[in-house]
Amino acid sequence: MEAPVASPAPIVQKLPPKKELPEGAAELVVIGAGPGGYAAAFKAAELGLKVALIDPQVNPGGVCLYRGCIPSKALLHVAKLVNEAREAADIGVSFAAPKIDLDRVRDWKNEVIEKLTGGLGGKVAKMKLTHIRGTARFIDANTLKVTNVDCEESELPFRQAIIATGSRPFLLPGLAQTSARIIDSTGALELEDVPDSLLVVGGGYIGLELGSAYAALGSKVSVVEMTDGLLPGCDRDLVSLLKRRLDKSFAEILLKTKVLELKEQKNGVAVTLEDRKGEQTKREFAKVLIAIGRRPNTENLGLENTAIRVTQKGFVEVDGQQRTAEPNIFAIGDIAGEPMLAHKAYGEAHVAAEVAAGRKAVFDPRAIPAVVFTDPEIAWCGLTETAAREQKLKVKTAKMPWRGNGRTLTLGRDDGMTKLIVDEESDRVLGVAVAGPGAGELIAEGVLALEMAALSEDLRKTIHPHPTLSETLYETAEMLFKP
Ligand code: NAD
Repeated sequence: MEAPVASPAPIVQKLPPKKELPEGAAELVVIGAGPGGYAAAFKAAELGLKVALIDPQVNPGGVCLYRGCIPSKALLHVAKLVNEAREAADIGVSFAAPKIDLDRVRDWKNEVIEKLTGGLGGKVAKMKLTHIRGTARFIDANTLKVTNVDCEESELPFRQAIIATGSRPFLLPGLAQTSARIIDSTGALELEDVPDSLLVVGGGYIGLELGSAYAALGSKVSVVEMTDGLLPGCDRDLVSLLKRRLDKSFAEILLKTKVLELKEQKNGVAVTLEDRKGEQTKREFAKVLIAIGRRPNTENLGLENTAIRVTQKGFVEVDGQQRTAEPNIFAIGDIAGEPMLAHKAYGEAHVAAEVAAGRKAVFDPRAIPAVVFTDPEIAWCGLTETAAREQKLKVKTAKMPWRGNGRTLTLGRDDGMTKLIVDEESDRVLGVAVAGPGAGELIAEGVLALEMAALSEDLRKTIHPHPTLSETLYETAEMLFKP
């Protein structure tokens, strides 16, 4: 799978002339203060626009900071400490069994969130952004109806707008809402308790990351995934390295399995599963986490009062400048299409803000990296080996198992792999993939290689620090030059 990139084709060819701003109007209004929204608001303010930022939270942060990337990474750090303490005996260091003070873990996670969101709040004040705590809806392409957190309504005329309202979890068909025992990622990150048994529905990013965190904290974790493998879209050799470890930390991984029914009971959730042969079994779990994907928040925005077009999947159609079919309105982040990743939102935010400020910019990255923060981490960018094969591209692939790298052995972890996919004729690097501890950091070099149109020759001639995991990148490139 090649990382999708936005089409640079403009939706709107000609921009209307600038009108006089009415009294009290915003020069630029940004709806939603997640990674897309706050990045766009800060960039636009830096470029001299008067910005109003609308979001119900006290401070910016969005899903990423309040109930997504950041809290989940905090919990995964706790999981890492627990696992390392347990495994240290293998190399001659023994600790007592880790004792988990759940209240302290939760407090620490919340402190991390507060530090980050508080810092952003400080930046809003410093940059003199107008922060409106509330939600917004389009009355037309130049007016918003704003409902503040006290439920008071007002109209806000604006010259330009950036929509950055993000996404929310999908629930299973027939399930109207989450509950105390049937939770989504938001519920899981609240860390109310550590259930004895946890069924994770969906073997994607969220299911595996949060499943890993709960397994380390002490839950017996079962995963059901409806396709025949974990992490659809990722090369199987990387996934199999992860699965080998998850097979030990999870109680079970049930592939090609569907959840037919969930019934909340007094002490748990009764679940009916259907396996690949169509056989049904009834099971009971203390909690069920639904992690089957996310959908864009494009409803309730009054988009029907504008010319903005929405795809069947609910994404707002944008051009390469993030402009919607309304020339003065931009859309960025999860509502503007996949991949739904904060770093894609940052990139799009800067483009939209620069274009809104009258600069020339386009969102046209060579690669958007994907990182799954499991143990081992899985990260990739650009062309995958699977996609190269499907598209019958003429490529050379080199894979280096981490067994041969000094640093991996000194970390007591050699269960990794670095892979390069290179154009057979030109030697240009088309894809990079890494599995192993720290893969999420290492992939940045791959993204830069793709963005700079590097050859594998460039990678192998680059002096990498020794002894580090980064050496696996040049060592893998070196493999392509062996006779
Ligand atoms: P996902 O798309 O990564 O995975 C969902 C999984 O659920 C897929 O494997 C899918 O086949 C499976 N599935 C779908 N319906 C099912 C069903 N009825 N029964 C069983 N399995 C089913 O989605 P996610 O894990 O919910 O994460 C949503 C998005 O959030 C991701 O696509 C990603 O964009 C983002 N995210 C990113 C990170 C990260 O960057 N590390 C972490 C978490 C979330």
